[in-house]
Amino acid sequence: MRAMVFEKVGQPLALRDVPKPKPGRGQLLVRVSVCAVCRTDLHIVDGELPNPKLPLILGHQIVGRVEEIHISSDKGQSNASAARTSDFKVGDRVGIPWLGWTDGDCAYCRSNRENLCNNGKFTGYNIDGGYAEFTVADARYCFRLPEDYNDVDVAPLLCAGMLGYRSYRKTGDARRLGIYGFGNAAHLIGQIAIYEKKKIFAFTRPGDKAGQESAKKLGAVWAGGSDEMPPEKLDAVIIFAPVGALVPAALRAVAKGGVVVCGGIHMSDIPSFPYVDLWNERVITSVANLTRRDGEEFLKLAPRVPVKTKIETFELDDANTALEKFRAGKLDGTAVLMIDKH
Ligand SMILES: [Zn+2]
Ligand SMILES: [Zn+2]
Repeated sequence: MRAMVFEKVGQPLALRDVPKPKPGRGQLLVRVSVCAVCRTDLHIVDGELPNPKLPLILGHQIVGRVEEIHISSDKGQSNASAARTSDFKVGDRVGIPWLGWTDGDCAYCRSNRENLCNNGKFTGYNIDGGYAEFTVADARYCFRLPEDYNDVDVAPLLCAGMLGYRSYRKTGDARRLGIYGFGNAAHLIGQIAIYEKKKIFAFTRPGDKAGQESAKKLGAVWAGGSDEMPPEKLDAVIIFAPVGALVPAALRAVAKGGVVVCGGIHMSDIPSFPYVDLWNERVITSVANLTRRDGEEFLKLAPRVPVKTKIETFELDDANTALEKFRAGKLDGTAVLMIDKH
């Protein structure tokens, strides 16, 4: 099968002909239809995340069809993974997200925090992902996708949407919500926040008038540069931009008891700041990965809003172009690789 393979930091992905993967027990073999590109893919390619599997097939916003199901032949085996495979039939559409596997057994898994699993494995990082014609995935972590969306439009919901949703939930009942970095995740979560009657304050790169316009078009009550202060104090802020200097800036923008949620997997260093900016029970927190529950909740909510995605499509062999445009901030929407044309 054709795959775009990450072999070494600093090198572009290489188009390779690699063996089609074989599903193990509890796994699905999936013919990939489309795979959306995430900022995390860029962090991996740039060597900013430690110890990726190498060589690696990137991609963790995968939409495809079940081609083959590996059901356990062990009689009497009541393993949860074997049980879950029976939920899917050959031909079913599935979504494969970032969370690819957990042990189900550590202190985090046992306390509904499987996103923090001590032994968690992630699609397109420790497990081969979807920049390829086929992939295998543990059936327990695959999602059924809402029928209101076609393959291309639903793909960005699988990470930008789900991780963004987890960040958004961390802001609790904040009424005045700031968002730093108005990219894919902000665009999706902003729609939910507005649907839930929140006031959105959008912060873009200083001088990015186009970004500020698009945030206002979405319904933000205010949009400005990240070097500006909002017209009123905020109850919570989500930072999607991978820029540590935004943390102290965001703290100064929130009211007493305000929450600053760092929604990215990687960020540049956070500069020091006076304690008074944190004082009065302001909170800084981060969001890591997702739980299956986050995903299910979000996929139920998205079609009700309805959350609309913005897409720019690429061929599989153009994955490097998609990554370059992403890095340069030149994408007009989420990049989606079109893999199966049938
Ligand atoms: Zn665990
Ligand atoms: Zn992602």
